[in-house]
Amino acid sequence: MTRRKFIKACFAAAGLTALGGCSRTWANGTPGQGNVPGISRGSSGQRPSYLALEASGELERRERALWAKMENCDLCPRRCYVNRMAGEKGACSVADTFRVASTRVGFGEERLIVGRGGTGEIFFSNCNLLCIFCQNWTNAHRGDGRPTTPTELASMMRLLQFGGAININLITPTHLTPHIVTALRLAIAQGLSIPLIYNTSGYETLEVMQLLDGIIDIYQPDFKFQDSNIAIRFLNGAPNYTEYTATAIKEMHRQVGLLREANGTAYRGLLVRHLVLPENLAGTDTFVRWVVSELGVDTHVNIMAQFWPAFQSRYFPPLDRRLIPGEFEQAMRWAREAGLHNFH
Ligand code: SF4
Repeated sequence: MTRRKFIKACFAAAGLTALGGCSRTWANGTPGQGNVPGISRGSSGQRPSYLALEASGELERRERALWAKMENCDLCPRRCYVNRMAGEKGACSVADTFRVASTRVGFGEERLIVGRGGTGEIFFSNCNLLCIFCQNWTNAHRGDGRPTTPTELASMMRLLQFGGAININLITPTHLTPHIVTALRLAIAQGLSIPLIYNTSGYETLEVMQLLDGIIDIYQPDFKFQDSNIAIRFLNGAPNYTEYTATAIKEMHRQVGLLREANGTAYRGLLVRHLVLPENLAGTDTFVRWVVSELGVDTHVNIMAQFWPAFQSRYFPPLDRRLIPGEFEQAMRWAREAGLHNFH
């Protein structure tokens, strides 16, 4: 059986989408037979920072600290203070068990994130932010996905590495950080050795960010709104989005710095995403000035044009329409005038 067929079979057995968009062919072999790559093909060759943390015993301490938060949950700024270990659910609608919506080696993200091998995407179900314009609402709001254990999540990570992924891309991870770190430790024991990407809405607490210091090599946060009074209407009542996200991104920057790459592959650093919204609802002019003043002109940013009125947007004008000609161009002018130049 080829490597590709083997991995497809494993994911199929788990009821998950496997290797969508992956078009490469592989040499024969199966995991566990001595051919799992320590560093996957097309990678930067850099060792991820979590390996040292595990060797020192610190990763186990972080795991315990994150799980302790589940009993009075303040894993995100909503601070629901519910006992998720006892089955209670807060705004994210997740107790102690969790679901994964899909996983694959993807090629649709930024060039340095994808590299030559593809990024190992794991889409978690549910979300702590709950945007009314969510393009993945069936997963994020409705919770579609397959029940998954940390042991299964560890296997997914390992299979993605075996499938050639150059990193593990944790998409919507905030409400599941304890589960992820548990799975990471299991995956390390099985040979995981590619960097973790923390692909987040940005709505994070400083305390959780500090617990992830040394675990995450690449942070990929959104910064959606520059005014919390505007944001709260479109984020299902999430309080103080702008302030929490600004603080979290500055902490991410302190931990990992500018995005760095080797062999066309990012191995450490920060990449900030910002979706341009109709009538400059996202405050793009303010966003680019904030990035320059707080993170520097060399910061890597992805200013995105692909807004469309998904989910409940039609009830929330001006989000009931796509961008009109000139709106994205104006956003990019603001970015260049501010001095930004590392665009993705
Ligand atoms: S992770 Fe979920 S339960 Fe915990 S504070 Fe955030 S929204 Fe509430």
